[in-house]
Amino acid sequence: MTAHPGCKICTMLDVAAPADVVLAGDVWGVVAMQDVPGMLMAFTRDHDGGVGTIPDAAAAELGPLFKTLSAGLLATGDFEKVSVIYLGDNAIHTHFMLLGRKPGDAPVFDNAPLLARFANKDRDRARAIADQLRDAFSPSGTHP
Ligand SMILES: [Zn+2]
Repeated sequence: MTAHPGCKICTMLDVAAPADVVLAGDVWGVVAMQDVPGMLMAFTRDHDGGVGTIPDAAAAELGPLFKTLSAGLLATGDFEKVSVIYLGDNAIHTHFMLLGRKPGDAPVFDNAPLLARFANKDRDRARAIADQLRDAFSPSGTHP
């Protein structure tokens, strides 16, 4: 991977609080976002032109990455579903937002704007969930 100066995503793992880093893999990074429990961003570690151009290694890990993260969020008992939102339209890293949905929450795409979730910040719970998710990865913490 190559860090490109001035790119926020390239430096995301370096600037994130260690407690918010879920995965620092070779081709994918995952961080807990904005102190919102169950809100994660998964991103390619290098620049690409969107999900259709990600390296083969990133593609091979994408399904297991989503499954591990989603299963981990469900295993916390806080969520009944996990939404995956693709955010690669205007960035040079393919990146996704995973968002746990609690019982009674409206689906992300039905009457519950994503940004409304920012009103429910809980740093301690968000980091506790990130900690649990780290355990779902290999002992090295680098591969799903
Ligand atoms: Zn970058």
